[in-house]
Amino acid sequence: MISQTRAIVQQSLDALLEDQSFLPEVTGETRKKAFTSMTSILSTPNHIHKSFLRILLENGKVERIPAFRVQHNNALGPYKGGIRFHEMVNEEEVVNLASLMTLKNALHDVPFGGGKGGIIINPRDYSEKELNLISRKYVQYFSDVLGPDKDIPAPDMGSGEREMDWMMAEYKSIQPGLPYRGSFTGKSVVNGGSLGRREATGKGVFFTFRYLVHDFVRDQKGFLQKTDNVFAKTALGFENRPLTIAVQGFGNVGSVAALEAHQSTHLQNKVVAVSDRNVTLYNADGLDIPALVEFTMKNKGDLPTTDEQLNDIEVTAEIQDREEVLYLDVDVLMLAALEDQVHKDNVEKVKAKIIVEGANAPVTTEADKHLSDNGVIIIPDILANAGGVIVSYFEWLQGRETQYYTEEQVFNHLYEKMKSTMDTVLPLFFGDPFPLRQNCYIHSVMKLSTVLYRQGKLY
Ligand code: GLU
Repeated sequence: MISQTRAIVQQSLDALLEDQSFLPEVTGETRKKAFTSMTSILSTPNHIHKSFLRILLENGKVERIPAFRVQHNNALGPYKGGIRFHEMVNEEEVVNLASLMTLKNALHDVPFGGGKGGIIINPRDYSEKELNLISRKYVQYFSDVLGPDKDIPAPDMGSGEREMDWMMAEYKSIQPGLPYRGSFTGKSVVNGGSLGRREATGKGVFFTFRYLVHDFVRDQKGFLQKTDNVFAKTALGFENRPLTIAVQGFGNVGSVAALEAHQSTHLQNKVVAVSDRNVTLYNADGLDIPALVEFTMKNKGDLPTTDEQLNDIEVTAEIQDREEVLYLDVDVLMLAALEDQVHKDNVEKVKAKIIVEGANAPVTTEADKHLSDNGVIIIPDILANAGGVIVSYFEWLQGRETQYYTEEQVFNHLYEKMKSTMDTVLPLFFGDPFPLRQNCYIHSVMKLSTVLYRQGKLY
């Protein structure tokens, strides 16, 4: 996974080195040196902070829990990125996720750098009191390197507004008198969080898909018909017909993306399958997504796993293995679970023609290549799932201004920002043979290189 990000960053830098219209004033040996510096800056994080949080459990035992904060790059602003609470999280993964944050923020012109945190626990194994202690200890151990103008954490897999509220409160008591509202984002609304932050990632995931297959295709039809680009053919094949969608993952991202798809009036689409860590639910006529969302809210986030549970909520669905969601005969697959879900050993079974990456890095390098070679459009993570960090930015701004936006304003700003990025990268994507991921990376790397060059850092 780590190598995937590095490899695409390198390909992007190689393409830019050749493209003399980019930084034309930098020529010859100086140009080569500048690009070598850029490679080393982007392939290594600025800092890796690591600690073992010492926690007194409710059973009286003491545990030392490994925790990280990786600060990848802050050329564009303070480090920014979530803290993942997961038993499989490791340092290498956090480094990669932090570098994706640098690229994601650069792509969408969010004035932040890239960071990420991790705490190696399965949050389901700990009581609320213990989780509170773990969250507060994290802030105690890393408080020197965090702060509204230094590094601003947010929720990620396994964490949410509850943890951000606890963390902000701890930060406030450790650093009395300093501004604290912008120290964490993804907080609850009563604690200075932004309206719409919870739904932002899922809404953005659906928006990027809708914008590409609906708005962009409608407005740029002439251009798309003229190119012999394989991806343009895929996109045109989606026009004005009913689409079937499968969503992997029914957490904060997947459930909101599924609900958006279900409610969309722009497209004639049906969500025919959803899945979580236990099951895939399938109905060729479309699933009752609102009923399933309501069920998960009452059942610790889990989807129904038995016919009785489905009958109780009057939902008609076939129960299949959790992996099956990936292989259904659908038009669109939204991946909103974990990384590395589509890989070289299962990619041949994937039938969808558009894949939207709601999670970070859910498609491996080999699978990505196979799919792209077959004309499958992959809307990459740094483009599709940026809604969370974009609204985090709005939350940070609102905290500074102590002025709050309405939910409608938040979503309007979010869509404007994502639209502007899409309008920059889509014409390039449909005009050249590179996959969309590559176009997005080139755009981010261009922004970062220009800034670093102007700051005199590329020597
Ligand atoms: N964890 C989210 C991400 O991967 C959000 C980060 C943030 O809001 O800072 O993009």
